[in-house]
Amino acid sequence: MPRTTEEYKKYQREYRAKRRKIDFEFAEVERQKSREWKNDNRDQIREYDRTTYWTLRFKVLEKLGNKCSKCPVDDFRVLQIDHINGGGHKELKKLQTTGILRKILNHPNLQLEYQLLCVNCNWIKRWENKEYGSYRVH
Ligand SMILES: [Zn+2]
Repeated sequence: MPRTTEEYKKYQREYRAKRRKIDFEFAEVERQKSREWKNDNRDQIREYDRTTYWTLRFKVLEKLGNKCSKCPVDDFRVLQIDHINGGGHKELKKLQTTGILRKILNHPNLQLEYQLLCVNCNWIKRWENKEYGSYRVH
């Protein structure tokens, strides 16, 4: 054991270095284990993700009224979640789909920021707001 301050500092430095090395190796082993587990359970994970996605999606649709906010369409297959003030694409990149659904579900002023639009109404809105991006034809 160290006796002087110098010795103690040296001991501490060495201890930290050793500790970092062990932590790093441990993390690497865990990462590898996790990769293998994901590989072995790929179908199960996919199934779980799908279930999670649809459960969340149906909850969001229900909270937003289960119907297009511009027309009478209420078929869940064509209903899309629309950010009233735009910015949906950027958010999707940042949070990914289930992240956004969770955020929407926990949003205090849900109805002020999000609405349901059917595919047609969504395209009309995009057209009117000139959000057609790469689909622009003229
Ligand atoms: Zn509509």
